[in-house]
Order: sequence, then C-alpha cells, then structure tokens
Amino acid sequence: MGSVQIVTTILAAAITAVAVWLAVRAVMKMTAVIRLGQPAPERFGDKGARTKKMLVETAGHTRMLKWSVVGAAHWFVMVGFIVLSLLVLEAYFEVVSTGGGLPIIGHWTVFGLVTEWIGILGLVGILVLMAIRLRNRPGRAENRSRFTGSTMWQGYFVEWVVLLVLIFGFVIRGFKVATDHFEYPVWAAPLSHAVGSVLPNWEAGVSVAALIKIAISMTWLIVISLNVTMGVAWHRFLAFPNIYFKRDPEKPAGSGLGPLRPMTSEGKPLDFEEADPEKDQFGVAQVEQFTWKGLLDFSTCTECGRCQSQCPAWNTGKPLSPKLLVLSLRDHAYAKAPYLLAGGGKDLTGEEKATEAQLAHMDVLALAEADRPLIGTAEEGGVIDPDVLWSCTTCGACVEQCPVDIEHVDHIVDMRRYQVLIESSFPSEAGVMLRNLENKGNPWGAPQNTREDWTKGLGFEVPRVGEVDDFEYLFWVGCAGAFEDRAKKTTRAVATLLNEAGVKFAILGEGETCSGDPARRIGNEFVFQMLAQQNVETLNEAFEGREKSKRKIVATCPHCFNTLGNEYGQLGGEFEVVHHTQLLAHLVSAGKLTPVQPVDGGVTYHDPCYLGRHNRIFAAPREVLGSAIGDGRGGAASDSGAGRDSGLVEMPRNSERSFCCGAGGARMWMEEKIGKRINVDRVEEAMSTGAKTIAVGCPFCSTMLNDGVNGKGAGEDVEVVDVASVLLRSVKPEAPAGEPEVAPTAS
Ligand code: SF4
Ligand code: SF4
Repeated sequence: MGSVQIVTTILAAAITAVAVWLAVRAVMKMTAVIRLGQPAPERFGDKGARTKKMLVETAGHTRMLKWSVVGAAHWFVMVGFIVLSLLVLEAYFEVVSTGGGLPIIGHWTVFGLVTEWIGILGLVGILVLMAIRLRNRPGRAENRSRFTGSTMWQGYFVEWVVLLVLIFGFVIRGFKVATDHFEYPVWAAPLSHAVGSVLPNWEAGVSVAALIKIAISMTWLIVISLNVTMGVAWHRFLAFPNIYFKRDPEKPAGSGLGPLRPMTSEGKPLDFEEADPEKDQFGVAQVEQFTWKGLLDFSTCTECGRCQSQCPAWNTGKPLSPKLLVLSLRDHAYAKAPYLLAGGGKDLTGEEKATEAQLAHMDVLALAEADRPLIGTAEEGGVIDPDVLWSCTTCGACVEQCPVDIEHVDHIVDMRRYQVLIESSFPSEAGVMLRNLENKGNPWGAPQNTREDWTKGLGFEVPRVGEVDDFEYLFWVGCAGAFEDRAKKTTRAVATLLNEAGVKFAILGEGETCSGDPARRIGNEFVFQMLAQQNVETLNEAFEGREKSKRKIVATCPHCFNTLGNEYGQLGGEFEVVHHTQLLAHLVSAGKLTPVQPVDGGVTYHDPCYLGRHNRIFAAPREVLGSAIGDGRGGAASDSGAGRDSGLVEMPRNSERSFCCGAGGARMWMEEKIGKRINVDRVEEAMSTGAKTIAVGCPFCSTMLNDGVNGKGAGEDVEVVDVASVLLRSVKPEAPAGEPEVAPTAS
C-alpha cells in the first residue's frame, strides 16, 4: 500500500464511520416516530400476498410505468442504485489498492458487463429525471407544477449525487484501464475502456477516484441522516415496507381505494353500540392518533407531486393538495416527536399525560408544535386548514397515482371523523343532509312513503321483496334513484330494460334507506353505522337461506354499489353487488337486449370515481354505449380494458385518470366557495370533445354535469344522460328514455 492509499483508506474509513453512526441514529429516530402511531394489526396478515405485491410493484414499477418515460427512467435509476451499491462497496477495496476489486464476483466478466450497462442506463435515466424536474420546476411550468411545494433542493441534491456516483464509477474503471488493472474486455465494458483511453496512466488515480466516490455517497448518507423528513431520499428504503404493509395487497392498484378503513381505536374496529368517546378514540385529533402505517405513509412521500397533479381540488384552485397535506402531517409529526417521545401527549379527555418534570427540559419548538391544533386555520396555528380538509371529494385520484401506495383518503376521512363526531365542526350546509339521514333515512328528507313513486306508470309491475321469492337480482334503487327527478329516469330506464330482458328482479321499496355513503365520507361514522346496520339486517332477511353467490344486488348509484359491495362486509353483510352497467353489458352480450336504433350525435363517457377508479369498472359502461352507438362492439364486460375503444369520443382525462365531477366525499351537500367549480372544469372537457351526449353512470355525476352544462348555457345542445337511458333509446326507440309510457298518477 503506497502513501496515497494509506491516506485514502483513512479518509474513507473516517467519513464512513461518521455517516454510518448518523444513519443508525436516524433510523432509530424514524422507527421511534413511526411506532408512536396506533396499532394496525390487520397489516400483518397475508404475508405471501404482501411479499409478492411488494416485489412485483417495485421490480416491475407497475405504478410508475403509467407515466412511461418517468417510470422507465426511474426504473433504471432504482436498479442502478441497488446493483451499483455493490460498486460503492468495491470502492472500499479500490482505496486500498489500485487493482482492488470485490472478492469472487469482482473478477467475473458477467459482473463487469451487467454493472457497466446498468451504469450506462442509470446515467441516461438520471439525466432524464433531472431534465423532467427542471422542465417542471415551480415557476417555469405553464400549469401549476406538480413540484409546487416540494423541497426542491433535496430533489436536486439527490439527483446530483446519483449522477456523480455513476460518473465516478466510470472514472475509477477508466483509471484501471489506463493503468492496466482492468480485467473486463472492451465488449463487456465499452464505456469504461473509452474513459480509460483519455485518462493518464496515474497509479494513484483509482484510489483517489474511489475515495471521491465514497465521499459523495457518504455525504449523501450524512445529509439524509440529518434530514429524516427527506422523503425524496428515504423513500429508497421506506417504499418497500410501505408497499408491503398496504391495506389490501390483492388490489391491482391503489390499495386505499374502494372501501374506507373502519374507524378503529387501539387497533380494533369501533362499534357505536358500545363506543365511549372518553375511552375510545373517535377519528384523529392528534397526529399520533394515526396508525403507525399512517406515520410510515407520511415518512415515505417522495414529494413527486403526481397526486397533486391529478387532484380535482388542487386543479380548480382550492387549497387542498394531497401532497402538501401529507408533507404537513409528516413535518408536524417529526417536529412534535421529541415531546411525545418524552412521554407527552393528551389523553382522550384532553389532559396532559406527561409530568412537569418530564417536560421541564423539553425543546421549546417541540412544545410549541405540540400546542398546534391538527385542524385549524393559519391564525389558530393549525396543521391542516379546515378548507383543505373539506375540499376533498374522496375521488381517489391521489391514491391511484401514488407510486409508494400512500392512502390519502383514509387519512382525510379519519381527520373528518373527529371533527364531525367530537367537535361537530363541518361545513354548516351539510348539517341538513345529516339531519335528514338521521330522521328520514335519505339526504333529501323526502317522505319514506314516496320511495316507490318512480314505479308509477311504467306499464308493468315492479315486484317487491316479500311479494316474490324467486327474484335473481334485488334492485337497490338508492335515494337519488327514488327521489331525485333526473335519477328517477335512470331507475325507470333500468327497470324497463330488466323487464324487457326477462330478468327476475325485486325492490325493497319502503324497506330501503340510504346506504350511508355520504355520512361515512363526511366522517359521521355513527350515522353510517346506524343506516348500514339497518340495511344489512333488511338485506340479510331478504336473502335469507341463500348462499353469497345468490345474494345478488344491482345498484345504479356507484356510491351505493361501493358501500353495499365493499363496506357492508365490515358489518356482517356479504352480497354480490353489480352496477347496472355491468348487468346491462351482460344482457346485451347474451342477446337479451338488442339495440336497434343507433344513437348518433357523438357520445362521450364520464367515469364516476366510485365506479371507475375505486372499483375499476371501466369497460362495462363503454360496451353498453358501444352497442347503443351501433359500432357493433357491445359484448361481455371484462373490465380488463377490453372494449375501451368502443367508438366513443374519449375525454383526455378518462378511465383511471378520470376527473371527478365534484360531488363525492359528501361534497354534493356542501357549497363550493373556493376556486373554479369542479363540475364546470369537467363539463368544459366533455364539451371540447364535440359530443352531443355526455353519458354518465352515477346520479350525482348526472346532477353535477347537468348543472355544469346549464351553467354554460349549453343545455339545448348537449345532453347529460345515464348509460341506461342511452341503451333504452336504442332498444326501445319508441319510449323516451326513462320516461313513463303513461303519465304517472298523483300520489
Ligand atoms: S381524493 Fe381526490 S380530491 Fe381528495 S385529495 Fe385525493 S385527489 Fe384530491
Ligand atoms: S404521489 Fe405519493 S409520493 Fe408522490 S407526492 Fe403524492 S403522496 Fe407523495
């Protein structure tokens, strides 16, 4: 070992020792913070499925490849990081000796070949990512950048470190070539040989370059260890457990989509017949009341802004950005952590848990952070502004897009639960809806005895459960379908089509109450459970003696569809629920409904969030529309994506990336006072296709888009209508879609 190697070895050892010590300290700190969260025992089941999903999602980059260029570039950088970590290890042998290399594999040509090409592709990948970040940097991008609010220096720092580490990998190899210590042939390591051809024959070059590479890598480790909230770097480690512990590892995408997480206290679902707000946690009022998985979510955020770029609230000028919400919760959790770790915190009655002695030497900043309300305005020092909390439509675009499986909607609803149940603090206009749900069993406050009015004048009998036993489908009409004039047309159209196809169905009539979706999404779990338990009881009675596969329900409202199919299981109600577009697609493909009159004028389809993104039903409504348009593409709905080119004029934002109508998350019952109206934004997009018909599959979308079209003064030219009504016009052109064939009699 020469004098240069002695110096490089000592320096490499010193900086590595400091970096490793700081990294161990940082990991212990992060683990301690994450462990402050509440238990989530359900995250430890399905180990096989979880492991498989984690490997498939990370190795295949299944989420990121939807953004193909970014995804491909990131894949090479990720693989480069993992594989080329071996080359950082090798650098420790190179600081000691010019000809040093990894034992055994370091002399293997295949290793040289693989690392060479991963290095080259990693270089290309990181340059692409750097260009994308620069092109989209806040203030330069034409639209609001997805990086707005991200900590930009951290992103630049991480990218430059990756770039320099890759470059110095080739410089080390170049010096080995120049000093004749390189074992791999030109065909296996062409770039290294090219670099070597321009470098001098300097024996110490290998060790000096290796020291620089180690210094850069360890500087990175030191910087991220001193910044435990630096998600852009830490996600390289945290993404793996965050994906592993996702809520539902079996879901193809967005594990936080579909059903909401039940309300839990100490890891157990709360039953309101026994729950006590002085003993049980009702929602989230303090950051440590999120589960440990919530705190892991916040720590893992990469600040990529994909969620923000798709969020309807953010895109229409509201203060909610799912990314900024997650970052606020993360920064608050880590700033408050010293106080919590010292034994501080409030019990459920609001009393301080720590003794004065425990808090005596507490950092004042941590104490000040602990005093901030989780939900509060800027004047109150709140972590999350109420306008942020109440702007969410629970559309799930953020969850769908997030590459590391953060479950934003669950966290938002958990915070709403506390505000509604304990503080009674929510947009006042929604109070009427909640009172109507409690007193009348529907959000409109309509009399229960008018639930069956839509059946009048149909020209055939609509059977009720109890009057008939041999029904195949229970037709869940829903409150909108029973009381709201436009939705009633859809209900009538579906009933007419089912009758036409000879499907045996029956309704609950006055036995039905609201599914509870608006109550649950606004955060009123108490009202949700009250309604849901009543419905589960009624439905279990209606299906008594039938196995699950024969407990079939068809629903026209995606919110009811989602709640009955995905959430009633949490309360003992197991049913096979289909959306009416799925059943209609099946009936068309089976030849039981035959469209005869093509619908013209151009049709575009708006994917309802709770049908599309939340439940991944994209193909069925398109197939029904395809058959009605007359392109001959109607057929069995697979929802695998087949049939998506059904002759429709698609909007730019469709299917998984569809844009919300603005009504979800109980926003239907709140005023939209900030920014542009979401429904207007969506209607403008729909109208830009030139289609004369905007087809929908949800009564709330129908209301919102109709209002949007009328607001633009285009009511005469463009019609918003349900898929079922479009099909009915084609199957029975003589009967106006959903209208009674004879005038209904007054009740
Ligand atoms: S659910 Fe939709 S509205 Fe709510 S934060 Fe996510 S993207 Fe925004
Ligand atoms: S998409 Fe996920 S990782 Fe990216 S900013 Fe949003 S929450 Fe963070």
